[in-house]
Amino acid sequence: MLVPVDAELNGIIVSLAYGTPDNLSGRPIYRNPICLLQTDAAEKLLRATGLARAIGLRLKVFDAYRPPEAQWRLWEACPDPTFVADPRRGSPHSRGVAVDLTLVDGSGRPLDMGTGFDATVDQSHHGRTDIPPEAQRNRFTLLGIMTAAGWDNYSKEWWHYQLFDARRYPLVADGAMAPPLL
Ligand SMILES: [Zn+2]
Repeated sequence: MLVPVDAELNGIIVSLAYGTPDNLSGRPIYRNPICLLQTDAAEKLLRATGLARAIGLRLKVFDAYRPPEAQWRLWEACPDPTFVADPRRGSPHSRGVAVDLTLVDGSGRPLDMGTGFDATVDQSHHGRTDIPPEAQRNRFTLLGIMTAAGWDNYSKEWWHYQLFDARRYPLVADGAMAPPLL
């Protein structure tokens, strides 16, 4: 079951990139940008929030549940399976069990992660040493928090985390997307 992530209650900053033009496609993809997750994923995100808070940080979420129709829009804008899941296969986002996120400090400033969210470059991969050491440390902090909270990572995107058994959850259709653009 998809549940809304209560940003107010959990201290999470929700800033859904696909509700704005600031994403891979250059256009808003979601009509109603609401942060939704499967209950199991929402619980693990809550755990991650607590771990971040204990070291003076907060989570900033760029994306969570993504309607399959929106996945098609992204695929049309960027048909590169390294960075966008083929919609025929289905994204864990469309199952409500993936989050894209970063860390922000006590004053709300995002930590330097070396590249931006959704940057389709090799430097977005985990384990890169050709980004500033501080950004490497920040990525490891996010990796540690999310891993300790029970999330699996994706080696090609520092911002993407998902449940280990993502395919156990069904693809969820939804109408929460913008009308056709073309
Ligand atoms: Zn993702």
